[in-house]
Amino acid sequence: MEKDCIFCKIIKGEVPADFVYQDNDVVAFKDINPQAPVHILVVPREHIASVNSLTEAKADLIAKVILTGKKVAEKLNIAQTGYKLLFNVERGGGQVIFHLHLHLLGGWKSGPESL
Ligand code: 5GP
Ligand code: ZN
Repeated sequence: MEKDCIFCKIIKGEVPADFVYQDNDVVAFKDINPQAPVHILVVPREHIASVNSLTEAKADLIAKVILTGKKVAEKLNIAQTGYKLLFNVERGGGQVIFHLHLHLLGGWKSGPESL
């Protein structure tokens, strides 16, 4: 738990979110400002600031984040039509929240808009 981290607060239940998946390692909830018909954030419970903070020791955890993206896509019935899994890395890469998260974007009827 990192003080003042909005995603840590969501994980602790201090800030509400619309969860679509939770287990001991990761949570997934709807993005508050969706950029696609389906826009989910997959977030490890552990506070890791960004992809740049990852080490080999976190290989299993980051694999689980990605596999959870796939699992949630299946659960929400957008897997067959296709989706994007995206990490924004550091400010120059568009990262605004410094608690690592994977964007799951999909649900387009006729192919994705350019992002
Ligand atoms: P980033 O740009 O850091 O990769 O993405 C952060 C994402 O978090 C943005 O898409 C933004 O809409 C979303 N977001 C920011 N604050 C909140 C919040 O309080 N609740 C939820 N559900 N999403 C948030
Ligand atoms: Zn955090």
